[in-house]
Formats: sequence, C-alpha cells, structure tokens
Amino acid sequence: MTARVLIVDDIEANVKLLEARLTAEYFETLTASSGEQALQICAREGADVVLLDVMMPGMDGFEVCRRLKSDPKTQHIPVVMVTALDQPSDKVKGLVAGADDFLTKPVDELALITRVKNLSRLKMLVDEMFMRATTGKQMGMTPDPSVLGDSAGLGGKILLVEDHARSAERIIETLSEEHTIDLERDPHQALINLPDSGYDLLMVSLSLTGSDGLRLCSQLRSLDRMRQLPILIISEPGEDARLFRGLEMGVNDYLVRPIDKNEMMARVRTQIRRKRYSDQLRNHLEESVELAITDSLTGLYNRHYMDRHLQTLVDEAVQRGKPLSLLIVDIDYFKAVNDTHGHQAGDEVLREFSRRLQKNIRGIDLACRLGGEEFVVMMPETDLTKAYAVAERLRQCIASDPFHLDQDKQLTVTASVGIATLDGIDDTPEGLLKRSDEALYSAKRDGRNRVVADAA
Ligand code: GH3
Ligand code: MG
Ligand code: MG
Repeated sequence: MTARVLIVDDIEANVKLLEARLTAEYFETLTASSGEQALQICAREGADVVLLDVMMPGMDGFEVCRRLKSDPKTQHIPVVMVTALDQPSDKVKGLVAGADDFLTKPVDELALITRVKNLSRLKMLVDEMFMRATTGKQMGMTPDPSVLGDSAGLGGKILLVEDHARSAERIIETLSEEHTIDLERDPHQALINLPDSGYDLLMVSLSLTGSDGLRLCSQLRSLDRMRQLPILIISEPGEDARLFRGLEMGVNDYLVRPIDKNEMMARVRTQIRRKRYSDQLRNHLEESVELAITDSLTGLYNRHYMDRHLQTLVDEAVQRGKPLSLLIVDIDYFKAVNDTHGHQAGDEVLREFSRRLQKNIRGIDLACRLGGEEFVVMMPETDLTKAYAVAERLRQCIASDPFHLDQDKQLTVTASVGIATLDGIDDTPEGLLKRSDEALYSAKRDGRNRVVADAA
C-alpha cells in the first residue's frame, strides 16, 4: 500500500527518524517543521495521514489539528497526534481537537506502522466515496450527503471477548458512552454467534484463561462472511511477537494494557468508520449496477437493457409458442417543445410522459427509453389485437390531459405508436423492432397522434 504521510515536527532529528521508518515500509513522505507549514501543505496538495507533533513553538499541534478538522477541504485527512509519554492529558485534548489516533514518544515502530496503515486505509475509503459521489452526480444521481457526513464513527455495535471481570467492566464503562457493547467470556461461543449478529467491531483479549484469543481471530478471518469484520486485540505489554502474528493474520489494530481510554475510543471509532464506509461502498456498487441498466432522466430501463431483454423474451415466446408484441412510441413534434419552452421543460415532459407510460402498462410489460423521445414497450403474452388496445389507451392518456410545466404552463403533448407482433419461429428482435419502426413511420406520415400496426 502506498500512502502519502505528512510528518510535522519542529525538531529535525524526529522528522528524519519517522521519515526513515516510513520510507522503509514504502510510504511516501512529506515533511513540515511548523504548524503553519503543515496547514499549507494539507490545503495545497493534501496528504493521506498527518503525524503531528503536539509541542511546537508558535502554533501547537492541537491548534493545527483543530484547523484541519474544521476546514471541509482537509477534515477527512486522518491526524495522529504524537505526544510525550509523561503528558497523558494531551490525549484528552487531542481527542477534543479531533485527532484520529495517538503515538507516544519515543515512537514504537510497530505502533507507527499499524496506526499509519489503518488510517491510510480509512482515507482511501473516504477518497473512493467522494469519487463515486462525484461520478454519481455527473450521471444525474444526487449523492446522498449523509454518505460522507457520518464520519464520527459513533453508535457502533461491539462484541468484547474478555473473561477478566474487572477489565471487561472498565472497557464497557468507557465505550458504552459512545457505542453499544456486549460481553462474551467464551471465544468458542463468540465464534458461533458472531456470523449472524451484525456487529461492527470485535475486541478480543489475548489474556483469556485457558484459551487463545488469536485462534478466534484466525478462525474468523477464514470465514468468508467474517472477513470484513474489524478486529481489535488487547495485549499485555511485551507481547510484540503475538501482536505481529495477529496483525499478519488480519487483525486490524491493537491496544496494550493498561488501556488508555482515549486511545481506545479513537481506535474504536476508526474501525467503525472504516466498516461503515466499506459497507456503504458495497451498497453503492449495487446502486451503480442499477444505474447501468436504467435511464437516469426517466428511471425506465435503457436501450442496453432492452437489447438483452428482448432477445430473452423472443426466445421464450418462440419456445413456448406464445405471442409477444412490441410498441415503439415517439412523441410528436418534440423538438418544438424544446425550442419553445427550453430543454428543461423538454426533460420534464419526458419524465411525465414516462410516468404515464409506466402507469398504463401491466407489471410484466417492460418499458424502456430507447433514446431521445422514443420509447419501447415489450409485452409478453400479448397478440396484435390486445397490443392495439394498449397502444390506443396509451395514445389517449398522453393526448387527453395536458402536461403541466413550471409556472402554470400547460402543454398538449401527443405521441405516435407503431406496433409489431412476433411472426413465427424465425422472427428476431431486430425484425420486431424494424417492423414496429416502419409502422411508426406510417403513423407519423399519416398525421401523427395515431396508432399503426404492422401489416405483416
Ligand atoms: P416527430 O413528430 O417527427 O417525431 O418530430 P420530433 O420533433 O419529435 O422529432 P425529432 O427527431 O426531429 O426531434 C427530437 C428532439 O428530441 C430533438 C432533441 O433535441 C430532443 N431530445 C432528445 N433527447 C432529449 C432529452 O433527453 N431531453 C430533451 N429535453 N430533449 C431531447
Ligand atoms: Mg418525435
Ligand atoms: Mg424522433
């Protein structure tokens, strides 16, 4: 993974040390020696993670963090506060200023890399969400602002696997201020219950009596459905080898006892945000699949979908010896609507036209926008006589009631319809479309606002 990490510290030796460690792990680094400079870099070129020294002459780290988090342009950049070991109150102030995580000097290598990895992954998700929201907007979808707004990572559902009563109590007390947290003493039971439970985060103690918390983690990671569940492990000091193993098997982050409350709150929030963002991205994917088959202006199926679906319908009708009819509906003199009332009024007519179309066909009939002001309705199990009746009803429901535009403007709209019906087992989608198009042409030529059936 490559990410751009901005290192902010007024002491050059500190910058150099962090820079060397991050470069060794293939992170790209930027450096700043003051708060002002850091703000400039973030505003100008951005960063994926900021490592921010608290103690700096002039503007201190808290102020830098506050400013980053209050500017919409930079508020999604994760900030790690680098604090002195003997200043635990710094973490409280950091959390209030909006910091996403903490490191204490002297900076531990594993902690550094784990924090940076977690937060740069979070940032990647945020970037992706922004990008998709922008694409959605370009394609006529309004991005849901709440998609990006819920960035606090609060109100999560957490399962804690811990069998030391006092320790569990303290963790629950702290976290239940912001989340819902359930306790499970038995890792085996956790494994059974977790898959159907809808938790946002699993926290596992590595000091369980008589069982190995890491085994639970590895078992969960091998279950397809559980691969996305964030896991935070809680270890004793000096257990670096086990921490390494945990992180290698896909544990997301860790806490070392004695647990610092603020660190715990920050880390839990980060994991919950990450879970939510990836869930939302997955849901968005479903929406974009929908987008690929529907027309954004009218919500009807698009031409691409019609092409595929019509072939299926023809095959089925041929196989089962059932009728199939097709209508092409084209608005009359639509160019004049645009020319007289503007393109936006034209769009509104297309939307209202589609609503009427959709309302007047059966559930198994399928309406598509072929393009421009031309529509197709595919009607399974419908012969020419019935199709004619439907077409005539559609024509009337367009022509009889005027369309309402903005500012009390009313407009009479008419449409012409061409019909064709499946003709024997050698007929094809192309044949159907061609014949109904020819019928439509006759309807236009004969004066419009009428229905013509293919003579064949
Ligand atoms: P006819 O009765 O022969 O069908 O005449 P017409 O004016 O309806 O047909 P023509 O094909 O000459 O013009 C179609 C117009 O539809 C031209 C184009 O600008 C307009 N149009 C196509 N797509 C859209 C759209 O998405 N929105 C709007 N507002 N207009 C569109
Ligand atoms: Mg037209
Ligand atoms: Mg046309």
